[in-house]
Amino acid sequence: MTELRDQVDTQVHRWVRPDITSLAAYPVPDSKGLLKLDAMENPYGWPDALTAEWQGVLADAQVNRYPHPEAPGVKAALRTVMNIDPHWDILLGNGSDELIQLIAMAVSGADRTILAPEPSFVMYRMIARYLGMDYVGVPLTAEFELDLELMLSRIEREQPAVVFLAQPNNPTGNLWGDEKLRRIIEAAPGLVVMDEAYTAFTEADYLNWLDDYPNLLIMRTLSKVGLAGLRLGILIGDPAWLEQINKLRLPYNINNLTQLSAQFALEHFDVFEQQTAELTRQRHVLQQQLAALPGLKVYDSQANFLLVRTGPGQAAALHAALRDAGILIKKLDGSHPLLADCVRITVSFESENQQLLSVLERHLHNA
Ligand code: PMP
Repeated sequence: MTELRDQVDTQVHRWVRPDITSLAAYPVPDSKGLLKLDAMENPYGWPDALTAEWQGVLADAQVNRYPHPEAPGVKAALRTVMNIDPHWDILLGNGSDELIQLIAMAVSGADRTILAPEPSFVMYRMIARYLGMDYVGVPLTAEFELDLELMLSRIEREQPAVVFLAQPNNPTGNLWGDEKLRRIIEAAPGLVVMDEAYTAFTEADYLNWLDDYPNLLIMRTLSKVGLAGLRLGILIGDPAWLEQINKLRLPYNINNLTQLSAQFALEHFDVFEQQTAELTRQRHVLQQQLAALPGLKVYDSQANFLLVRTGPGQAAALHAALRDAGILIKKLDGSHPLLADCVRITVSFESENQQLLSVLERHLHNA
């Protein structure tokens, strides 16, 4: 056995690209039995009657058959719910993670660069590395605003094939302002992808900017709205861009159960709109309550999470104290220099937010 083991290791290291063997896989902590406030999920379930109706729909699913390759029912429902003009195309991904990958694959090459402000969503960097592309992260200011001059000079120097702009940004929760965004889109030589993963929690909406720019695509997801388990990402833009990116999509990437469930959920979207509106209200409440605790700085957010800075060197202890009390949040300290002492907390409904607050209160008063 040991001999076989050694042979496997040798072969793995001989054949797998060294830049892959040196990578760490995307970490997902074990959350069994914990209150999950780490991943921007919607904490609400569905009303019982809706669940029963949905299960009736699923009873007709033909899992012996391949799904429809284009998911037309889902796309039609999305057009209605998101008010997507017929002259834009829609491309669906197994989560928007897959869309980021498809976009990057479409432009990839040894001399091709992906650029994004940092800190932002980590998959932009990860996927660039998977594909052997260059990645340039342009630091935000200390207050997480976009450094326009720095962005423009890096765009000029690096000539990126794609710029990813998450609005609101993860993990900082803020918007960067229309004027700066327009300047960046205008300066970018290649694609700009506006990642609106948190669109349900903000008034900001850049969909109609598609009319203004030939190099813009809009990306959304149903994950944060309440359907993270379905894995459905949405790319919207000019048919000429999407036609090319679509060639790289695996034929049946949106499975039967996701297609049926997403279409059903979109036909009852008012339920999700009520839930996300309530979470937006709770975000305001929780922000004030957290800011009143000793030693915490809470940043303004337009998403369903709050970025919080603890006292110097305190983030790990705070994260651990919450986990010991059965609550999982995201520790960001150590992931980027600008995020020193930071954690990110997903907003939940009132009783779960209160549970979080009472543990935090105890911890901070004892610290
Ligand atoms: N974009 C941003 C900005 C995100 O924060 C996330 C999830 N954390 C994603 C994209 C990916 O979402 P999904 O793959 O679930 O659609």
